[in-house]
Amino acid sequence: MPGPSGDRLIRVDMTQQSVEITAFPDDWKLLGGRALSARILLEECDAGCEPLGPDNVLVMAPGVISGTAAPTSGRISIGGKSPLTGGIKEANAGGDPGQDLMKLGYRAVIVTGQPADSDKRYAVDVTAEGASVKEVPDCKGMWNYALIEHLAKSYSKDASFVSIGPAGELQLTGSSVACTDGDKERRPARHAARGGLGAVMGSKGLKYLSVETGKARLRDPANRKEFLARGKTYTKAYREGPQMFKHGTSTVVPMANMLNTFPYKNRTEGQSPDVETLDGARIVESFEERGGEMHNCMTGCIVQCSNIVHDAEGNYKTSALEFETLTLLGANCAIASWEDVADLDRLCDEIGLDTVETGAAIAVYMDSGGMEFGDAEGAKALLKEIAEGTELGKMIGSGAVATGKKRGHKRVPAVKGQAIPAWDPRPLKATGVTYCTSPMGADHTAGLIVNPGLPEEEFARASQESQLVNAVCDSSGFCQFLQPSLDDIRAFYGDLYGEEVSRQQIADLGWQCLQDEWEFNRRAGLTSADDVMADCMQVDAIGPQQVVFDVSAEIVAQAYERCELRDELFTANATG
Ligand code: SF4
Repeated sequence: MPGPSGDRLIRVDMTQQSVEITAFPDDWKLLGGRALSARILLEECDAGCEPLGPDNVLVMAPGVISGTAAPTSGRISIGGKSPLTGGIKEANAGGDPGQDLMKLGYRAVIVTGQPADSDKRYAVDVTAEGASVKEVPDCKGMWNYALIEHLAKSYSKDASFVSIGPAGELQLTGSSVACTDGDKERRPARHAARGGLGAVMGSKGLKYLSVETGKARLRDPANRKEFLARGKTYTKAYREGPQMFKHGTSTVVPMANMLNTFPYKNRTEGQSPDVETLDGARIVESFEERGGEMHNCMTGCIVQCSNIVHDAEGNYKTSALEFETLTLLGANCAIASWEDVADLDRLCDEIGLDTVETGAAIAVYMDSGGMEFGDAEGAKALLKEIAEGTELGKMIGSGAVATGKKRGHKRVPAVKGQAIPAWDPRPLKATGVTYCTSPMGADHTAGLIVNPGLPEEEFARASQESQLVNAVCDSSGFCQFLQPSLDDIRAFYGDLYGEEVSRQQIADLGWQCLQDEWEFNRRAGLTSADDVMADCMQVDAIGPQQVVFDVSAEIVAQAYERCELRDELFTANATG
């Protein structure tokens, strides 16, 4: 039964293996992606539940303008209670499932319950006619790439998939949710990686979800002409601009190293001696000889920040090899070669692992004497152990904090149970405030501020503004790498629905998303005592200035007091 707008929600009960299609509430029309996931979780999930138990709710929610002709707008949010942080989690991915669900008018898939038999595996098939659950015993234990190749034989050639690998099936808390990219190969290379949501999907016995759009077309905006013209103007302006992500994030390595935010050996240093061999420029240089390239990970993306990495024989190896992965699985483990990191990245995508959490766990393991720093082959063997479910593999696959606990090792760079990403909170203290106060824990996509010179009195405000703007972006369907301004987003919303969306409304949407998420975390039992930076970041000094994270609890707490957004946030480069 569609709502007044024609949109619907898919509700999947994994206890009964049944599906219900319900109307999408019309007064939620400006809620999508992260904000929609937060609202559903706040209203429908017991925040005190066991994250891997039947009462957790897994949400797959495309952005408000996903499925339209707006450029780079088809992102999907995967949400649930995180088994890593114990709080709410939204992890955002590209690929085509978000676009495809919205072409069919499905604003979210809400998965509840748990099968009685945890050995069974199920799939949800989504089409224009509805959705259904089926058992898929042949898919049990399959790695992500093999799974998608297997599914390609029985689904239409343009079907998209959301899946988990063996790590998710083993319910390991460092596991990710994979989305197939928009290329014809449909590789499962786009991951909603952070927070262990692969384990939540695994706990529901859900191996994959398929979306087949059939004859469905792009969504039709109310102000069609204006919407399409806006998209064209925006695309032209973007293409004439600096296109700062045209070679992806991997080429920021030298800049990050210069800023002491390319951590080395479990973050005991801020710079790596391997900056040259880990610089993504080496990947770009390899294209000519090996045949890799930059591409768009989802249909309609004009940024094309995703690299396709080939091996020395010219065969596909992985996509995308990003700055975060080169840092956590490379520099932070003292693994010096980008080619080894490419192997590790592929293994993580295959097994369904967050490269940040996994790299941090391996570095903790190395730092605790479990393995030599720099042992690339040992790291690859460790990842294979995760897929096999050995005791050692389960420890690494459960993330940095679990590894530190098991090894009795104190230097564990994490906040709220989640490993700190590449961007280091010691030189980038405002980003550290984000790690402490974001409902998502240590997650750079929640509010990154790359400004080492920022005065202390600006930390909380900069963090809050960045958190709010990123919440709006991750709710819209736009990719953060497009860097749309808040005015861009509200203009597209306005033409989509044929009504004015004010600056105040768009700011309120972002703030309300944060409020919903913080409220969920309060109900889950998180308090200001959890807003604390890892001890090692407060005592292990790095760089020539020997910086530590020394921001007071009072300043950190100011990030919760709403400030007026600065005008420039509405007009230019709002995210990133
Ligand atoms: S900008 Fe990059 S990550 Fe974002 S959708 Fe495009 S290719 Fe994917």
